[in-house]
Amino acid sequence: MFYEDLSEYDYRDEDAFTDRESGFYALWYRPAYTRLNIGWLEAGKPYSTGTVPTVVVEKLKAVQEVQWMNVCLGVHECDLCPAGEAPEGNGEVRIPGGPGFAYAAPFLITHYVTAHGYRPPQAFMDAVLAVDLGVRTVARRPFSLGSGGRGTHVGVEASEAHVRSQSRIEATVTGPWKT
Ligand SMILES: [Zn+2]
Repeated sequence: MFYEDLSEYDYRDEDAFTDRESGFYALWYRPAYTRLNIGWLEAGKPYSTGTVPTVVVEKLKAVQEVQWMNVCLGVHECDLCPAGEAPEGNGEVRIPGGPGFAYAAPFLITHYVTAHGYRPPQAFMDAVLAVDLGVRTVARRPFSLGSGGRGTHVGVEASEAHVRSQSRIEATVTGPWKT
């Protein structure tokens, strides 16, 4: 899957957030914020390379630890790696960009940086560094994306978010794959 950096994300209309701590529910919502693609690399497509500060990679990994976005889309394999050695990533990551927009990157972005020399746009790296992991909702719940992590709500309000409460336990019990 290839998208040019900073193009508008239109892969799917909705974002799905899974609460990682309980693991019991997911929220689907139609984001009011614009999503800009970052790091959707594909074999044969050129991408920018260069040095990325370690602190950026570490911060990205820290966000990925607490945020589960769109994990329902399934596993995405790195196709820049030789077959059989390619790591897989599940889901995406959202980084608050500024008022009204967020960056949308695949989970594998950290692998692309460390293994393939990918260098995301500077604005994205600045945004990663600006995420305040101390503000749990900003990192964990992209629908309450703040401006620079300072808690100003610019994203989806409750009236716009349509919440389809979904219990993983129920899904396991009633899903056709469990017959
Ligand atoms: Zn790879």
